[in-house]
Amino acid sequence: MSQPSLEALRHTAAHVLAYAVQDLFPEAKPTIGPAIENGFYYDFDRATPFTPTDLAALEARMHAIVAADYEMSGEQVTREEAIARYASNAYKVELAQGIPDGDPITLYTIGEFTDLCRGGHAERTGEIGAVKLMSVAGAYWRGDETKPMLQRIYGTAFPTQRELDDYLTFLEEAAKRDHRKLGPELGLYRIEEDAGGGLVFWHPKGAIVRSIVEDFIRAGLKERGYQPVVTPHVVHEKLYEISGHLDNFADGMFGPIEVEGQRFRLKPMNCPGHILIYRSEGHSYRDLPLRFSEFGTVYRFERSGTLHGLTRVRGFTQDDAHLFCTPEQLQGEFEQTLDEALRLLKAFNFSGFEYFLSTRAVRGETDPIAEDAIRKALESHGLPYEIDVGGGAFYGPKLDINLHDAIGRKWQLGTVQVDFILPERFELKYRGPDGADHRPVMIHRALAGSMERFMGVIIEHFSGAFPAWLAPVQAVVVPISEHQLDYAYAIREQLRDAGFRVDADSSNEKLGYKIRHWKTQKVPYILVVGKNELADGTLSVNARGSDEKRPPITPAAFAAELQAVVDEKR
Ligand SMILES: [Zn+2]
Ligand SMILES: [Zn+2]
Repeated sequence: MSQPSLEALRHTAAHVLAYAVQDLFPEAKPTIGPAIENGFYYDFDRATPFTPTDLAALEARMHAIVAADYEMSGEQVTREEAIARYASNAYKVELAQGIPDGDPITLYTIGEFTDLCRGGHAERTGEIGAVKLMSVAGAYWRGDETKPMLQRIYGTAFPTQRELDDYLTFLEEAAKRDHRKLGPELGLYRIEEDAGGGLVFWHPKGAIVRSIVEDFIRAGLKERGYQPVVTPHVVHEKLYEISGHLDNFADGMFGPIEVEGQRFRLKPMNCPGHILIYRSEGHSYRDLPLRFSEFGTVYRFERSGTLHGLTRVRGFTQDDAHLFCTPEQLQGEFEQTLDEALRLLKAFNFSGFEYFLSTRAVRGETDPIAEDAIRKALESHGLPYEIDVGGGAFYGPKLDINLHDAIGRKWQLGTVQVDFILPERFELKYRGPDGADHRPVMIHRALAGSMERFMGVIIEHFSGAFPAWLAPVQAVVVPISEHQLDYAYAIREQLRDAGFRVDADSSNEKLGYKIRHWKTQKVPYILVVGKNELADGTLSVNARGSDEKRPPITPAAFAAELQAVVDEKR
């Protein structure tokens, strides 16, 4: 017998859950129960939410159903039979009515439980090696807030207990790293309910880290001849009519702001602004490529239910740039962009890069040229890639770069898009060597992507323990008693003068408490000064993650050590 796919296994576990609910909570009406990325869920119509005690009882019943090793048997029925069978369950009736004519309508049974389902199961419940219920949440029927609120039970299933245990350990590790927890704990950022969801307030420590990331990116742009530009956050709606965003991206935009009978919009993208700058003067082929960069803040409408910490927000800043070039320059520009992306991602110790060439669902005549440039740029770097058919932007194909973080999770950050459409819509041109006007090609690229999302990802990647070059506080001077307080402040000043981010601890707490506090703040170096250090003009270094007892060194020696670490971006 062949092993079921993980998806089939998990979807079967959803049936097992619905069976258990039928036994223990017969009043709850089952609706749908698909497999999802890390498990499965099943939505039930029930007046009261399931409690943790209910989940424990359901899980125990599920174990019994798995152990009984029921066969999953299917039968095909007519639409009328299906509807008659589920006469008391309006959801199943709606599902049965929605199955396209000609498609088989099937019922699947395990033990005493039959479900309307299109299939994709394990052959027997006993193939589920390990199953666990995770949580309950409200969810609207069909995801539509005008429809009834259902109770969604999430669970997961694996072929073996060991895989389930590993997954639970992984979840614990991920929870410890959750940027929504660490961000406020480490004083990096907050989202204030009074100001609205999805809008981020960067506190001094978070803003420092973010500005270091920006400086790193800026240095690379300067070296590559990018020119910084700055564009308004609110512009006339007309601009987005010309660009096509109103037709293609309206759902992602905030509504119009009316002033003096004119409609303005918060900018959802920086491109049209950069295009206006390009269009404002004539260009010769000798001027190209032109590369305009901006840490451009954009606003996009996201439903409040989908907002998530820093990774799904309504206002964010892109490390955006638009390149205007000749078709002949396209591949070269794409290659230098790729180099720049890799410089960034490697500096932050990401690994396991994956490249996706996303083509457009409806390809235009210039798409093959654009796809070819992306392909050749990847091939010239020896980078393997996959094709994501239909994943492209509305104006052209793109390259997405996925990466893996410290605990193996996959993230999508940078994206590079080739665009023949916007230059056309805005009638951009350059004077060619033949003296005639030609259309430039545009490349849109954001490598960190959104600074907010990038920060969320690096907080989790480093688990808040930023390497010294990034850490908001690189070192803290901790006096053993108040007698060394002046000395601690003198060292702080000396190190600050040398350009480091250093604090001193002036609290009246015991040494052990102070050290624990700074360790939870994940400061890379705790510099302890007591009677002996004061007398000798030294400090004792306690490096993060090291128990090594080192002899005291002078502040100047520590400064040299820290500088070397920072220079190496450690
Ligand atoms: Zn099924
Ligand atoms: Zn753009």
